[in-house]
Amino acid sequence: MVGLPWVRLDTGFMRNPKMLALLSERDGYHAAYAWLCSLAYCGEQGSDGYIPAAALGLVFARPREAELLTKYRFWHDVPGGGWQVNDWAEYQESSAETQQRSQSARRAACIRWHQPGCDCWAAMHPAMLNGSDPQSGTQYTNERTD
Ligand SMILES: [Zn+2]
Repeated sequence: MVGLPWVRLDTGFMRNPKMLALLSERDGYHAAYAWLCSLAYCGEQGSDGYIPAAALGLVFARPREAELLTKYRFWHDVPGGGWQVNDWAEYQESSAETQQRSQSARRAACIRWHQPGCDCWAAMHPAMLNGSDPQSGTQYTNERTD
């Protein structure tokens, strides 16, 4: 779950027939705004396109807008609650991809700017957070040694 500072938006979205149909409905413009907000919300949260039911207000939607967005297939109902943005994975970077890209950038910067053997980019390796360094076999504990 890594947040993005931006999301991708189809530059022709306002001419999409499904968007034009949505806009012809009562509350359609409100729903279109909520859809844009939902893209930003999912990017910011790194939720891979999932909008929890509790986040409806955060994307400026009411149940009416959610109903319109699912009717025109901008969102899909998720069993158990919430919605999934249509085709999120096709257009947006996944949270795992973001994490990978960010890790690669930190590693490249370390190699370029830091001393050999620095490895600062690997400092947050998940195995270390779990209490051991896979390379040295060192066990990390919270015990004080002083
Ligand atoms: Zn470094």
